[in-house]
Amino acid sequence: MNQTTIKNSIILKGGVGLHSGEKTDLFFFPAEEDHGIVFFRGDKKVKIPANYKYAKPSALCTTIENKGVEVTTIEHLLSVCNGLGIDNMLIELHGVEVPIMDGSGHEFYSALQSAGLRQLSSPRKVIEILETVMYQENEITIFVSPSDRSNFTFSIDFDHKQIGQQEVNFQLNERNYAEKIAKAKTFGFRKDYEKLLKQGLAKGANNKNAIILDDEGNIENMEAMTWLNEPNLHKILDQIGDFYLANNYRIIGDVFSHKSGHSSHLAFIRKLMDECTDKYVIVADT
Ligand SMILES: [Zn+2]
Repeated sequence: MNQTTIKNSIILKGGVGLHSGEKTDLFFFPAEEDHGIVFFRGDKKVKIPANYKYAKPSALCTTIENKGVEVTTIEHLLSVCNGLGIDNMLIELHGVEVPIMDGSGHEFYSALQSAGLRQLSSPRKVIEILETVMYQENEITIFVSPSDRSNFTFSIDFDHKQIGQQEVNFQLNERNYAEKIAKAKTFGFRKDYEKLLKQGLAKGANNKNAIILDDEGNIENMEAMTWLNEPNLHKILDQIGDFYLANNYRIIGDVFSHKSGHSSHLAFIRKLMDECTDKYVIVADT
């Protein structure tokens, strides 16, 4: 497989940020080999690579920053780039937050598909795991072991009747991503919503772009769901996005995660890339 960009530029109009509630269009432009996935804040004239070196830990979303300028909630869009195998693209926006759209990767996926994909002439690079790398922080565990596939096993445990403890296994490739992950919506707890609003967050959340888990252990808006285990699938969508901060290279290995989230994903990628350089190699994808 070669490095990939989009064939044509495309605009995705009118989305609002999940947290900021701010509206911005997204402009996607093709990019050359080894450019990477780069965001451009058109209103501030600052480019920010979607790379762990520019990422900031945060609990609720994944944020990148350059020269004091941020782009937040990049994870769903980045996940779709990983899922489609796009490794070079410029994404322009005129606000701080990538729009939430329908809460999943679906609308980004459709837009980028309709722009068409173009293979470039150099081979795509991937991260091949040579030895197990482990990250642990309280109840959170993430580890990756050598494998010839890009495989994700994610286990969650929420104190909520409709979720509880579950585990999903997912093998990442272009077809599986489209069929099983792209449409998995974000989710949130009703009990957290008022608190988040008071903190100036979740201003763009509604019952169409988030699965809402109520205080009685039920789901408020079943009609918004595609799969019963959608929250678990969404955690994998998030992780596939966050892990693409590793230089926009797909990780070839068996990833196991328990109760992880954006900040632990970033901590894991930092540990892997910077502290465990003898435990992986960057190779051409075959
Ligand atoms: Zn998410």
